[in-house]
Amino acid sequence: MSSPVLTAGLEIHRQLDTRHKLFCGCPTDFAESEPQEKFLRRLRPTQSELGQIDQAALFEFHRGRSVLYEADNQTSCLVEMDEEPPSELNKEAVDVCLTASLLMEAKPVDEIHVMRKLVIDGSNTTGFQRTAVVALGGQLKVNGKIIPITQISLEEDAARKASQSQDTVGYRIDRLGVPLIEVTTSPVLHSPEEVETVAYAIGSVLRATRKVKRGLGSIRQDLNISIPGGALIEIKGVQELEVLGKAVAIEIVRQQTLLSIRNELKGRGLEPYQIERDYVDLSSLFTTSKAKVIKQSLDKGGVVLGVRLPKFKGLLGKELSPGLRLGTEMSNRASFWGGVGGIFHSDELPAYGISGEEVAAVGGRLRLSPDDAFVIVADSYAKAKDALDAVADRATEALNGVPDETRTAMPDGTTRYMRPRPGAARMYPETDVPPTPVAEEYIAVLNAHLPETAEKLIGRLMEGYTLNAKLARQLMDSDYLSLFERIVAPGKLQTAFVATFLTETYKSLEREGVAVRTVPDTKVEAMFRLVERGLIAKEALVDLLKWQVSHFNEDPGAGVQSLGLRMLTEKELEPVVDHAIEKNKRLLGEKGQGAFPSIMGAVMSEVRGRADSKLVTEIVKRRLARVSSP
Ligand SMILES: [Zn+2]
Repeated sequence: MSSPVLTAGLEIHRQLDTRHKLFCGCPTDFAESEPQEKFLRRLRPTQSELGQIDQAALFEFHRGRSVLYEADNQTSCLVEMDEEPPSELNKEAVDVCLTASLLMEAKPVDEIHVMRKLVIDGSNTTGFQRTAVVALGGQLKVNGKIIPITQISLEEDAARKASQSQDTVGYRIDRLGVPLIEVTTSPVLHSPEEVETVAYAIGSVLRATRKVKRGLGSIRQDLNISIPGGALIEIKGVQELEVLGKAVAIEIVRQQTLLSIRNELKGRGLEPYQIERDYVDLSSLFTTSKAKVIKQSLDKGGVVLGVRLPKFKGLLGKELSPGLRLGTEMSNRASFWGGVGGIFHSDELPAYGISGEEVAAVGGRLRLSPDDAFVIVADSYAKAKDALDAVADRATEALNGVPDETRTAMPDGTTRYMRPRPGAARMYPETDVPPTPVAEEYIAVLNAHLPETAEKLIGRLMEGYTLNAKLARQLMDSDYLSLFERIVAPGKLQTAFVATFLTETYKSLEREGVAVRTVPDTKVEAMFRLVERGLIAKEALVDLLKWQVSHFNEDPGAGVQSLGLRMLTEKELEPVVDHAIEKNKRLLGEKGQGAFPSIMGAVMSEVRGRADSKLVTEIVKRRLARVSSP
């Protein structure tokens, strides 16, 4: 058996739609409002915590940033501000989490213990995130394959980043404490499509609880990905399901390209010790430079520092993923450490105001060989040196192929360096929150009331309403499932038509900018009743709905009047049909009954939206029979 090109695992976080936050009585549903209060904190983990801090966390700490928190009293209280201890675990959130666990056949723990996970980027006022394992060892069957679910946890969401400057990070704490469910799969996924399908399946199970939030920001998906010969890469924060497969595909190519760069460097005979760490002050070559960043930096008393990267020529400019080159990786890494003003590599020069003569002069000063490259940084000496250290580190790692990293997902599916991959020792017990026992009787009750799974629901929609699988799924994913069930309840309307209208038609109208969501369910239902009673044609519904959006307080009946959508009666249709026959007399003479489609077309183009096509067909047939019979 050939080894798979990819091994991936998923970690899916989804906000729960509970009434209260996880450890206080604040609401989880809120509109963005003006902050009433601001408070500044310094990141300062205690020594005992520092003892357990891994490298990744320590680096964040060493950036020495202050954190500015913004709060308002509708969305947060003293718990989020870390001025009051947390309350007990939110029972409703535990219910939802256990219910989802049971749907995934996971075994609930006997006692839920809240732990502290060290997070010192400032996104938690406490310096840690509270998290609790709720169930273990579940599984999901997806396309006939068993996907092990290793762990299901309950966590508190972090604060939202609102601003960032050199020494201060700003966070809004309204989101802090909203319950999140975290579902982790084994690393058993082997293609971008499979990753996406499994994420979808997990999403469906979570939705089946009817207690998860929707919309952008409510879902965050993390990935761990490796390819043979590569490294384990963590990708954090993919927000949209549709981007997940793309992110995986892009990451495969990125790792493959890094491996080919490694092979190329080895082929060129590069050894790790050849990567230098004595940097050369090149400031004198740029005294009359037209490059803005360099000029600004020199004016402020900074330097231009450079390093030769032996045998890297052409490799820094090599694209790893769309818009991301090895050179970009190096400068991202450098900014992580130092936040430098200007950083440039030889594969992208001359450009940015740096001239060909300056490039040549740098090459001469750094004594480049033909297959060497260089990186230059313009900033204060200390920052430039830190940045070049990061560049040299990253260059050394290029010789190993793919460095272990945690990367941030971008909306387009590409990723950026986030930080080194954190170690495992980041948890310790939260002593402020007592353990929550999970009694067998409690599980029995939850088990007896498990919600309809997505699979069952789709099956029920397909069978009960003769919908195809696609429509059934769309309906389940929409917000209109119960409205649909009410509308078709009397049994006279075509179910597929109603389902299509509430999903596809709604979507395309929304894309046109029609605020269909503002129309209350009762009015929508009333419109369908008009169709049901034969008072308007179903083709007229779109116009009527659009009218309703701008006539919020009026009834659909008024719209029918004002738009002239009332259906024509048989009596009113007959003259229209006769007129069309009259106009097509010659065709009728030539083709006889064969003229039917043309006549039908002529009538419909005149009465579309105001007549039932079945009735029109009847009348046309009847009138034609009369004309053609001698
Ligand atoms: Zn609160």
